[in-house]
Amino acid sequence: FKKDHEVMVRNIAAQAAIALDNSQLFERVKTLSEKKDEFIALASHELKTPLTTIKGYLQILEKKISEPKSRLFLNKTLDQANRLNTLIDDLLNMSRIEAGKLEFNYEDFDIRELLLDVSETFNYSENKHELITDFGDLPVLIHADKQRIEQVINNLLSNAVKYSPLADKVYLNLKLDQGKAKVTVKDQGLGLTQEQQQKVFTRFYRAESTKGINGLGLGLYLTKQIMDAHDGMLDVKSEEGIGSEFYFTLPLAK
Ligand code: ADP
Repeated sequence: FKKDHEVMVRNIAAQAAIALDNSQLFERVKTLSEKKDEFIALASHELKTPLTTIKGYLQILEKKISEPKSRLFLNKTLDQANRLNTLIDDLLNMSRIEAGKLEFNYEDFDIRELLLDVSETFNYSENKHELITDFGDLPVLIHADKQRIEQVINNLLSNAVKYSPLADKVYLNLKLDQGKAKVTVKDQGLGLTQEQQQKVFTRFYRAESTKGINGLGLGLYLTKQIMDAHDGMLDVKSEEGIGSEFYFTLPLAK
């Protein structure tokens, strides 16, 4: 009996040592992960400050310069500064989500109006793709954070353009669907396999087939988080080599 007991105690001690090791390892990984998130938050904040100043001066210059070639160079510089700004905002927003600090300002507004504004801006900027829209004729009132929803639409639209390099059209639709506002962004681009579709909303995921195109793999992750916070739904239908359809639904205002 004494021998059995000794074996049992040894076994328990061994298991306890493993558990202790595991919990220490878990704590270590957790601390490192928190430090990484802190670093990303700090670095993106530091990058954002000078960029805001650069953008401010470029916008002043844009109003003052009329010589065509200088304007062209200036606009290209401003485009790149805006691109950098979006990338940094994505990193900042990711850190805020991880820290549970992403804030939302809810209001009632007409999403049809917002879609009209977004498509006007799209048509105004230099684009190889034609944007084909159908928003119906009536206002569609929702209760949401307008800026974040604009960010979501712009993100889906820029993906549709970015991942359909050989196409010349992208589609943006709004309709009422089972008492909800449903927005669809469709492209005739590279498309995604079933397996890729299941992973596109995870942080840093980038499909192998699109690796040559630049990005951080954060846009759809952020879009999903924003939709979850709004009690909304986000999904994708896609076929490799044919194109993709990303769509979201949001509850209507009461
Ligand atoms: P990013 O575009 O910066 O990589 P996203 O989170 O927006 O980040 O997208 C994640 C990945 O999902 C992309 O890298 C791409 O592989 C795939 N993806 C997103 N939108 C599309 C689309 N419209 N067509 C094909 N693939 C897409």
